[in-house]
Amino acid sequence: MELKGKVALVTGGARGIGQFISEELARQGAHVVLGGTNAERAGAVAESIVKNGGQATAVKLDVSRASEVQEVFDRIAKEMKPLDILVNNAGITKDGLLVRMKEEDWDQVLAVNLKGAFLCGQQAVKQMMRQKQGAIVNISSVVGATGNFGQANYTASKAGLIGLTKTMAREAAPRNITVNAVAPGFIDTDMTRGMDDKIKEELLQKIPLGYFGTPMDVAHCVVFLASGRARYITGQVIHINGGMLM
Ligand code: NAD
Repeated sequence: MELKGKVALVTGGARGIGQFISEELARQGAHVVLGGTNAERAGAVAESIVKNGGQATAVKLDVSRASEVQEVFDRIAKEMKPLDILVNNAGITKDGLLVRMKEEDWDQVLAVNLKGAFLCGQQAVKQMMRQKQGAIVNISSVVGATGNFGQANYTASKAGLIGLTKTMAREAAPRNITVNAVAPGFIDTDMTRGMDDKIKEELLQKIPLGYFGTPMDVAHCVVFLASGRARYITGQVIHINGGMLM
């Protein structure tokens, strides 16, 4: 229970990797605030955490809307305590080849994946600065480092998150706040489940460990980075990809 007494916000915490991160943070004693666009689904996950003896609250949160972000952070400070841990997990894909990519698909992906992390990160750092401690973990992606066919918008957002992580880490370090990113490879979730079997088979050939990751593989690393055990780690990108990128 190394996170007892801490308040953590996980964006997009209602399913996939975000749900596992939320459940693991709660298992370690944190009061988890699950922010999701689908309030009902976030509510159901929060309820199951509470049933299992944890503390959780579900809030409606579209990270691309500055006013919603502000409201959620104000509520956390007022009803709980200033935030200790932020996990910028919310993310979407709208794939298409560069030459055919619609401007709105570019804008939407950047608004959720990158601007969302900026808006939440800005509010989080303001609250953490006052208590002179905190940990922020941004969920990037291996393709932010390598690029990927058909993902100009997504890869740009995930590469942007790495730059944002390093700047936030530098600016927040004097107040004892750590900011890191994790970059998962291929993790079995709704986001990847719809992919063509042939593409999955080709991908598998590129993973030295020979299997796809699970959301728990990511959750373990995020919870470590959010804990006191990682207090001297900041501005880093931890790759979780079975050796796909070395
Ligand atoms: P997912 O689609 O299952 O989950 C994404 C979550 O983000 C959902 O809960 C969704 O409701 C939420 N979300 C979407 N738009 C939002 C918005 N505007 N505001 C708040 N929440 C919003 O996908 P996942 O695989 O669990 O992905 C989680 C994160 O991990 C994403 O940032 C994704 O880019 C990243 N990632 C996933 C993989 C993978 O292989 N699955 C690999 C690398 C990185």
